[in-house]
Amino acid sequence: MLTTNEPSFRENVELMFRRAVAHTDLPPGLAEKIQVCNATYTVRFGVRLRGKIETFTGYRSVHSEHMEPVKGGIRYAPEVNQNEVEALAALMTYKCALVETPFGGSKGGLCIDPRNYEVHELEAITRRFAYELAKRDLINPAQNVPAPDMGTSEREMAWIADQYARMNTTDINARACVTGKPLNSGGIKGRVEATGRGVQFALREFFRHPEDVARAHLSGSLAGKRVVVQGLGNVGYHAASFLRAEDDARIIAIIERDGALLSADGLDPDAVRDWIAEHGGVKGFPGAEYVADGPAALETDCDILIPAALEGVINMSNAARINARLIIEAANGPITAGADEILRERQVVIIPDLYANAGGVTVSYFEWVKNLSHIRFGRMQRRNEEAHASLLVRELERLSADRELGWELSPDFKRRYLQGADELTLVRSGLDDTMRTAYQSFAEVWRTRKDVHDLRTAAFIVAIERVADSYRAKGL
Ligand code: GLU
Repeated sequence: MLTTNEPSFRENVELMFRRAVAHTDLPPGLAEKIQVCNATYTVRFGVRLRGKIETFTGYRSVHSEHMEPVKGGIRYAPEVNQNEVEALAALMTYKCALVETPFGGSKGGLCIDPRNYEVHELEAITRRFAYELAKRDLINPAQNVPAPDMGTSEREMAWIADQYARMNTTDINARACVTGKPLNSGGIKGRVEATGRGVQFALREFFRHPEDVARAHLSGSLAGKRVVVQGLGNVGYHAASFLRAEDDARIIAIIERDGALLSADGLDPDAVRDWIAEHGGVKGFPGAEYVADGPAALETDCDILIPAALEGVINMSNAARINARLIIEAANGPITAGADEILRERQVVIIPDLYANAGGVTVSYFEWVKNLSHIRFGRMQRRNEEAHASLLVRELERLSADRELGWELSPDFKRRYLQGADELTLVRSGLDDTMRTAYQSFAEVWRTRKDVHDLRTAAFIVAIERVADSYRAKGL
């Protein structure tokens, strides 16, 4: 949250947008059309809870309908407000364009602290909110498809999907009205971990380009890199856990609501998460130093900083003291426009949110396609692939035996080669491909254009040009 006298979140996104637009040659007026938020719906509704009626305020903002449906999560937090929802909806437009998911941008929010309510109360509130949005087509498989965001999860998405289905009993595509659902309600494997997985794939792609890595004053691979993670929610936890377990990165600090844990030897995010679940915070976690001043820990000397919680945590009050070579924005808008400028001057490389956290919406896209096609990915071809692989293996073994060649395929190769791709494998492959392709599209702009000095501007340029192309194709 902003503590300094800086522009609002929406203004910050607009500043970043305008910075990039200056590097394009859009026809007059088109930049303005792309920038503005098309509409924001505010709803106030009452729910009878604990013997009295409680009134809630919710929003669904549609930023750009150059492609439909529009897409974006629903956030549950006490601070939710129109400005924030509009900023997040705008980011969705650019995010979807950048990773080529065929959606416009939208976002929703409900002013609520979910921790204050019982599960059955949250269900009643969510169903009522979903009803209010669905009856105005702000939840609809063809027009507006929400997903989880901060404070919401699979559970809320299942309630929303069911509420929509009850209101649209003959809609065969009802399940595609929302993504991020549990598997048994039409979800897809790999969606829960998708945003964190996307952060990992983004970093892997960055480290495949030594010339880009050098611009962050780093070298080598992800192995051994000192990582600070702020926020151990769904995104931060998965990113940290995968980076540690699969890329040998060292998680030297984890910052949470009640303070931070520091350990030069590295923390295990799984153990920290279990500790938080049991004790309500990080304090007391064995084998690490605890500091109560969480925000100060953002300034820890590290190679990679992963802000994975709220917007505006790196702002003009602390940007000059950030001690990271590379920042990857797993959260939406964690760096204000003012801080962005300070960090740019200090040559800190920033992998921007519209790319870095796009793994969620990418896998949401796969889920939506799955719902519309009414079949799980891999169901038709998996065993056929296995049969083909097995033909080859058997033939090789026969040749070896007949000719006494003594060839032996290693059991590990055989096991892996004989395995047809299941849904999770395909989702990961599609996500990996998306993150690699998108990175290349804007990193190329960063590398080749002398007037573009940072990845954020490069990513915005690519996204804006794609949205502009859609508008042009429509004849606007
Ligand atoms: N809320 C996530 C985001 O900010 C996911 C959106 C989606 O899957 O539609 O990108």
